[in-house]
Amino acid sequence: MIQFFQVYKTYPGNIKALANISFKIEKGEFVFVTGPSGAGKTTLLRLIIRVERPDQGEILVNKRNVSRLKNSQIPLLRREVGFVFQDFKLLNNKTVYDNIALVLRALGYNKKEIPKRVRQVLKVVGLEEWVLKQPPLKLSGGEQQRVAIARALANTPSIILADEPTGNLDPELTVEIMDLLEKVNQLGTTVVVATHNTSLVAQYTKRIIPLYRGEMVE
Ligand code: ADP
Repeated sequence: MIQFFQVYKTYPGNIKALANISFKIEKGEFVFVTGPSGAGKTTLLRLIIRVERPDQGEILVNKRNVSRLKNSQIPLLRREVGFVFQDFKLLNNKTVYDNIALVLRALGYNKKEIPKRVRQVLKVVGLEEWVLKQPPLKLSGGEQQRVAIARALANTPSIILADEPTGNLDPELTVEIMDLLEKVNQLGTTVVVATHNTSLVAQYTKRIIPLYRGEMVE
């Protein structure tokens, strides 16, 4: 569950990225955050994982008050949230296996569990075992985004945040990745997708949090 109460965020230079934002996303929902470039979508996602802090207002994520979290508690918050980026952000000098396993090693999974968990998430995202030995750049854009989603799922987060996840993909792959995010949602994960792509939003009947110049609009 994610809840914003009258959240404001201003960047240096008096750039009002978000103003008076309030909403609630229930556990298990699939929600779009929409708006043109500069509307504040990325800022909203970054506030959820405490990469940014609000100037005013409160943010609750899984009952944690994110705005008041101690630094020592931030890793616990981030373990509950997987992040997916437009440009995948995979490590290109590592294999697909290592990209996913790194997350698990960092979380202290034991050596026996790691290969099992890597294969589990690979299956969820519909990739075959042969990709594990490849470096990401050997794969297509759609496959790379599947790997990135697998990595985000590795530590069984309750929430997936995806920032323009299909922004680098052609229309066909866009549908595949959106269908995958729907599947992840149906398996019980809350999914929040930020996008400026109005035709994409129109294809899926999901609740929308519409932003325009930092404000929520109708
Ligand atoms: P969107 O994701 O909808 O494109 P952003 O949240 O990235 O919007 O940006 C909202 C506004 O805040 C824009 O005007 C952007 O230029 C500005 N902004 C974003 N990040 C920073 C930053 N780190 N420093 C200064 N301004 C920023």
